[in-house]
Amino acid sequence: MNEATGEDTICAIATPPGEGGVGIVRISGDQAIRIAAKYVHPKNHTPLEKLSNYRLYLSDVFSKENFPLDEALVVIMRGPHSYTGEDVVEIQTHGGPFIMQKICDALIQQEARIAEPGEFTKRAFLNGRLDLIQAEAVLDTIRAATTSSLCSAQGLLRGVLSREVEQLKDELIRNLAHLEAGMDFVEEDISFIQNEQLECVFKEIQAKLQHMIDTFEEGRMIREGIKAAIIGRPNVGKSSLLNALLKTDRAIVSSVPGTTRDVIDEYVNLSGFRMRLIDTAGLRKAEDLIEEEGVRRTREVLKEADLLLLVLDSSEELTGEDRILLKEHGQDHCLILLNKNDLPFKMEMQEIFDVMSSKPEKIEKFESIDKADKILKISAKSGKGVSLLKETIRKCFFKGNLEIGQGPIVTHLRHKAALAKAQESILQAQTSIQAGMDGECIAFDMRAALDSLGEITGAVCTEDILDRIFRDFCIGK
Ligand code: GDP
Repeated sequence: MNEATGEDTICAIATPPGEGGVGIVRISGDQAIRIAAKYVHPKNHTPLEKLSNYRLYLSDVFSKENFPLDEALVVIMRGPHSYTGEDVVEIQTHGGPFIMQKICDALIQQEARIAEPGEFTKRAFLNGRLDLIQAEAVLDTIRAATTSSLCSAQGLLRGVLSREVEQLKDELIRNLAHLEAGMDFVEEDISFIQNEQLECVFKEIQAKLQHMIDTFEEGRMIREGIKAAIIGRPNVGKSSLLNALLKTDRAIVSSVPGTTRDVIDEYVNLSGFRMRLIDTAGLRKAEDLIEEEGVRRTREVLKEADLLLLVLDSSEELTGEDRILLKEHGQDHCLILLNKNDLPFKMEMQEIFDVMSSKPEKIEKFESIDKADKILKISAKSGKGVSLLKETIRKCFFKGNLEIGQGPIVTHLRHKAALAKAQESILQAQTSIQAGMDGECIAFDMRAALDSLGEITGAVCTEDILDRIFRDFCIGK
């Protein structure tokens, strides 16, 4: 039992389910080496307890019934210099699920138990090996599917954001200490920090918080990718566009937990950024079956989407259905694609502009591109214009001024929400100064801001926050 955390010894298969060249069983806890020693016998006849750290030893591995399971490479990493901060043993066998399961069966025959999802990383956090931002970055690293998302996850893992948050905390703590010292000497009328000085500090902190919050929109896209929905009436070329986009640069298709597979979706790599494409043609089919459900799902997809790609058939005149879609969606986060540009052009550009701007309430989402650039002529069939489309999409979302992996970028809603909470508390402290409130009120808000910042790194956290973060991990990580 680990005295610091009160944790027992855990084990799990660390490699993905199914067959593979190599499979890894991981054990962590105070008893990890003793428990593994029962079944792992190094070929050099040195007892497991005596092996050096971080070296691979060829070993025989036995089942709980004492029959030989496999020859394996075994590595010992003694705490605190291990991933979890505890003693860790990793057994690298041939990647057969049966072998690995038998090893786990043997280990739990002793005092080990099967790890919960993310428990190794949770222990790393509880033992101070990682802060909460870094623990989340472990999962981001595993899930990264593009260069930008990987770079950003690695930046977080190396502490780029953590350092920035810690610096802000230090600044607050330093000034809070001055303020509190002054409060202790209030009778003597001694002040360790003037209100004007505090106001300057708060202004600076607010600016830094705002700067971080401002990176969130792009940061989220870097981590999660852009969610784009292809819309348009039947036969305009939606599926063809999907195929054309996929043909140019197909991304790794991963099954993201929680995403429903009944929506047809694919992933495209936009030169280092990920775009999830949802073809609403798939939803239309559902509409035929259970109409209401289909419409509800289409609406949900459109609401969730960061980008709409409205496809029109430019070899025909605008139809009533085109007009409805153009009017409804043309103004906001939408690119209008005049498809079938390889055929004679039958549309009136002015009519398109007019219908687009006929909706009374105007929402302009993509300020980084000219209005005229929102309308693109393409041919999904020949692929003409598809590269320009991809470049335009990139420009709409990524302004190119973020130093991915180098500067602090906020990629998680949890972090943004905590930064905003800290901002609110500082604003409250500023208001208190202006209203001539006493030091205790100002100190109260400063402590609240510190708590919010602490939530980001995990210096202040509840079991509920931890559960929410680690439940998304796989077992063995
Ligand atoms: P959807 O119903 O909107 O998904 O449309 P499809 O992608 O199934 O395309 C409908 C028809 O239009 C098919 O016969 C396609 O081959 C054709 N099509 C799609 N894009 C183009 C294009 O750029 N040029 C031409 N000439 N035909 C196209």
